Amino acid sequence: MEDYIKVGKIAAQAREFGKLLIKENASVLEIAEKVENKIKELGGQIAFPVDVSCNYIAAHDSPRYKDTRVLIKGDLVKLDLGVHINGSIVDTACTVEVGTEKYTEMINAVNEALNEVIKIFKPGVKITDIGNAIETAIKKKQFSPIRNLSGHEITSYQLHAGLTIPNYNNGNNTELKEGQIFAVEPFATTGDGIVIEGKPSEIYGLVNEKPVRDSNTKIILKFIKENYKTLPFAKRWIANEFGLLKANMALNTLEREGVIKQYMQLVERSKANVTQAEHTIIVSDNPIVLTK
Ligand code: MN
Ligand code: MN
Repeated sequence: MEDYIKVGKIAAQAREFGKLLIKENASVLEIAEKVENKIKELGGQIAFPVDVSCNYIAAHDSPRYKDTRVLIKGDLVKLDLGVHINGSIVDTACTVEVGTEKYTEMINAVNEALNEVIKIFKPGVKITDIGNAIETAIKKKQFSPIRNLSGHEITSYQLHAGLTIPNYNNGNNTELKEGQIFAVEPFATTGDGIVIEGKPSEIYGLVNEKPVRDSNTKIILKFIKENYKTLPFAKRWIANEFGLLKANMALNTLEREGVIKQYMQLVERSKANVTQAEHTIIVSDNPIVLTK
């Protein structure tokens, strides 16, 4: 519990710090690295590579090794980050528009949806009622929720554990229990409200540990296990440590052998812009927003 309170505060601080870096001509790689360094400075560990997903990319766009992309006026940026200490993880995100005020209402829609959830995140509340609160708040502002992205339960070292929290009324009558921890993440769009897989993200996670023969791959697998366990990691982190050539060789081998899997970017099917808000919340009669 103490760890959760502490990582929640670190994550909130890192998010607010990162928000201020989102502006015209800013490098996405620098934003991600600065936020990751901030997490470490504040005494946390990075739970997954910081995502800086723009426009119709809803999630899983973390800068690549030596990424040269910069933000331009009109970009709609989702900054998503996770922090842990000893496997106690929190997950939080916000949306910022670069140099315009075109998307204020779509940003408000997800923030208001999250506020509605916080009011009712209590023991005995049905998951479908949480989904309904999100859907209602987003539709009230004439946007659509993204139906195939959801919030998720968090347990030790498991970012996506057990139950999911839908962004619409999905009919799941399971009730929330005191003390459960969830990341709740409403997404809104002007499009279809469905995401599909986009480009490979260069974000990986260990899925099936088994022995490998090649010595370079062995060393890198050991590094992954020691540093990230089952939590997601970025190719750029491995490349910074071992060089791009060795990183590529090992990650390709491990992916082919099914030891790690690569996450795909998640893009809105109709290429419409997307906003997101996310907090990690403890179910309680007085719901505790860890990442406030
Ligand atoms: Mn997140
Ligand atoms: Mn999440």
